[in-house]
Amino acid sequence: MITFAPGPSKVYDRIPTYFQDAYEQGILSANHRSEVFMNLYRDTEETLKLKLRVPANYKLLFTSSATENWEIITQSLVRHSSFHIFSGSFGKKWFGFAKHILKDTDKIQLTPEQEIEVDELNIGQGHDLIAITQNETSNATQVKMDTIGALGKQFPDKMLAIDTTSSMAGIHLDFSLADIWYASVQKCFGLPAGLGLLILSPKAIEKSEAIGEKGRYNSLNFMLENAANFQTHYTPNVLGIYLLNRVLHDMEDIRQVHEHTEKRMKALEQIVAQSGSLEFLVKNDATRSRTVLGVGGKETFIQQIKKDALSEGMQLGSGYGNLKPISFRIANFPALTDAEFNQLAQFLARY
Ligand SMILES: *Cc1c(COP(=O)(O)O)cnc(C)c1O
Repeated sequence: MITFAPGPSKVYDRIPTYFQDAYEQGILSANHRSEVFMNLYRDTEETLKLKLRVPANYKLLFTSSATENWEIITQSLVRHSSFHIFSGSFGKKWFGFAKHILKDTDKIQLTPEQEIEVDELNIGQGHDLIAITQNETSNATQVKMDTIGALGKQFPDKMLAIDTTSSMAGIHLDFSLADIWYASVQKCFGLPAGLGLLILSPKAIEKSEAIGEKGRYNSLNFMLENAANFQTHYTPNVLGIYLLNRVLHDMEDIRQVHEHTEKRMKALEQIVAQSGSLEFLVKNDATRSRTVLGVGGKETFIQQIKKDALSEGMQLGSGYGNLKPISFRIANFPALTDAEFNQLAQFLARY
């Protein structure tokens, strides 16, 4: 069975080899204050920066999930309150967690077809951070890099925090455009869940130090003190970090990955455009995600096509939340092979 679900998603076929290597190399029992672990952390950070084209002076931190990053950002990187712009469920959840901690947290909710109109945004002095879900997995939408760039220009005094949980390692992100980026590994990294990544610019680190929040197990300053020595603040998910290290070493430069992702998405889009019964969940191609395709249709049709796919060994990703009965989603993630993708394309082309 091949799963096209957008998270947890298909893991790389090489994972069993990596597992075996981790066991044989003794890394699984390595102390997280040891040279062995520190070298693994250092090498993983360097390789991530190289392959994903992250600026050299940014810092990689390990967390447990993207969800944890929501809370870390609000606790440790927001001085007054954050302002959230989103169209889907993950963006809304992030807003909810932030609002729980800081009551002045505010938002604009867009429709999935709406681009962010940067010129028309009015965000007051009380908001020192803007929160963007770059790839909204729930409704298969995206925010373009150009828009993130324009936000940074329009609001130079506010910090941008970008959720790229289902796009990092799948498309080329311009990390210079924002100070806070995060993801977790069970989407485009093709890994088992249980590890979150938080990538911070020097400006974000300075801000965290200036705010000086301390005392929680995941207070960012506490994490940064440990990370300065390539250590973590608690016994980390060493296996997850090891697997990430191997995936990063084996992946191509993100620019090539990006091209590949784009090529496959265009092929899928063409099938939907030519189909008599498949419909784009997101009609606006400016807001349509490049790593997750949403396909809409009548409830009976969606039920039937998911069943037909299963009988041919393919699991389509279900729609999210209230979109569940009227849509399915396809993960266009690098761990899916071209052969698997072609099988899906041939299947979809029949509808
Ligand atoms: C999956 C996802 C999350 C949550 O990730 P966890 O690792 O489960 O915390 C957050 N944001 C987006 C956009 C996601 O796709």
